[in-house]
Amino acid sequence: MKVVRRYLQELDIELERLEAGPVAVTCIPDMANVAWPAKAIFGGLSRGDLEAAAERSPAGTVDPAGDTVALSFNCYVIQTPDYVALIDGGIGDSKERPHRPAWHRRETRFLDTLKAIGIAPEDVDIVINTHLHADHVGWNTRREGETWRPTFPNARYVVSEIELAHWTAVHEAEPFGTTLHGAFADSVLPIIRSVGFEPVASDAEVVPGLRLRPAPGHSPGMVVVSLSTEEGDVLFLADAVHHPLQLGDDSIACNFCGDPRQARATRAALLADAAAANTVLAPYHFPAPVFGRLEADAASFRFCPLEIEATGQPANKNAPTRRHPEEN
Ligand SMILES: [Zn+2]
Repeated sequence: MKVVRRYLQELDIELERLEAGPVAVTCIPDMANVAWPAKAIFGGLSRGDLEAAAERSPAGTVDPAGDTVALSFNCYVIQTPDYVALIDGGIGDSKERPHRPAWHRRETRFLDTLKAIGIAPEDVDIVINTHLHADHVGWNTRREGETWRPTFPNARYVVSEIELAHWTAVHEAEPFGTTLHGAFADSVLPIIRSVGFEPVASDAEVVPGLRLRPAPGHSPGMVVVSLSTEEGDVLFLADAVHHPLQLGDDSIACNFCGDPRQARATRAALLADAAAANTVLAPYHFPAPVFGRLEADAASFRFCPLEIEATGQPANKNAPTRRHPEEN
């Protein structure tokens, strides 16, 4: 497998693309490398914990002085001779998220970026929502006047049946509430009411070589996604791990995990398997470089990015991280 990094000048975005025979996986961050207040995501960490985490995490991903960690929101596009699939849907545009200011009424160039890698919305055959949190379903829909339409009209929208049933019940208990920060109403319901979701078992094979694997804990029906290629497997981690600092200490729980104990067990099992099989990981929330393998480090792991071949304008490794205006 090789990774190529390409800078798209017209969109001022840098994309990483993994190539394995006829299969390509491109990471399109819907939001890249934002500094989150550490306590807003990992409530239990002290300044000392952050300093230790910075030592063992990739450069620039933990800032103990600023009390922040860097996060991205990575959508992955799989292109094979047989299909185009999108793994997770980011935050999306034009969504009303008053309680998440950085996600509120965004206008981005996500679809232009897709177009730049040769994909029109109509070309997407499969959309997989690993779970239904607001930062994973945004691009399911786009606004047309006062209505929300499927962004990818020809796609099978795939979700675990447990996940769909759970959030549907939450919404039905409070239909005028704002389930999932409003994402159920604007990014899930419009799919149910138009093209429909394809609810599947948490270990379903979506298409030959593309399989779900149960990963409950962060949300009740979350899955991770495994892609087999002739050069090895790629595992799309969803929110089983949020940040590289968790690789060094599996007791570090994210504030947004519905069942932190189950999330920890899921994380430990997935990481042990991925390390043993030398699987390439494609994490959802890690800042670039995104494709990497695990290396054992005492009782835990380190994230080792794959070597990158750069094309076009080289990366500016010292680019400052934008501060995320989130405070909760
Ligand atoms: Zn997430």
